[in-house]
Amino acid sequence: MKSNRRNFIGAFASMSALASTNMFASLEDSSSGTLTKHELPSLPYSYNALEPYIDAKTMELHHSKHHKAYVDGLNKAEAELAKARSSQDFSLIQYWIKQSAFHGGGHALHSLFWKCMASPTQGGGGEPKGQLSEKIKEDFGSFDSFKKQFSAAAASVEGSGWAILHLRKSDHRLIILQAENQHKLSAWDTIPLLNIDVWEHAYYLTYQNKRADYIQAWWNIVNWNFVEDLFKLHSR
Ligand code: MN
Repeated sequence: MKSNRRNFIGAFASMSALASTNMFASLEDSSSGTLTKHELPSLPYSYNALEPYIDAKTMELHHSKHHKAYVDGLNKAEAELAKARSSQDFSLIQYWIKQSAFHGGGHALHSLFWKCMASPTQGGGGEPKGQLSEKIKEDFGSFDSFKKQFSAAAASVEGSGWAILHLRKSDHRLIILQAENQHKLSAWDTIPLLNIDVWEHAYYLTYQNKRADYIQAWWNIVNWNFVEDLFKLHSR
């Protein structure tokens, strides 16, 4: 953690001519604590890899503009919170904490979303196998029941948001939740395993207002191998 902080501060120190640098430099000398420099992760495939189900332009805008904005927003919010600790001025605490939840939620959910998809030529689509397949049958009755409930949850998100398959740790059960925006309607004690973004920016160029068509197409690119690995990781 300390070396991360040094790297982060170091990166900013090399840009000392910038006004924003001064804020971070001053934080180094204060008692405000450490900062993480959140970064936009690379996609595990090219922008056109998920065509025809998700078009390349949508993927490019979604990743390089929308996800990037959440990363920047989270860094900004956490820097402002550190600044508040440094100055002991917490008058805007509610605003910056809301910002950190919104942008932090966006960063985390998009980071998962990219990994949950793969081209059909790279294993996307079909049905889960192994332990995850068994668990889905146990908790939802059948894969078909799970798929219908998940699709209905995604289709009915009010406004912008997500449908998310979670593993609930307390009883080791799979549950489906919605998230409005990037963070509302969340539960605790859960590990997100699979999610679909149903913000219009995720599908509008190809599907316009037909969210249900996008959801139906999306099942062709679900990376079940990744979801299975994540499930097993958290089942130990
Ligand atoms: Mn999105």
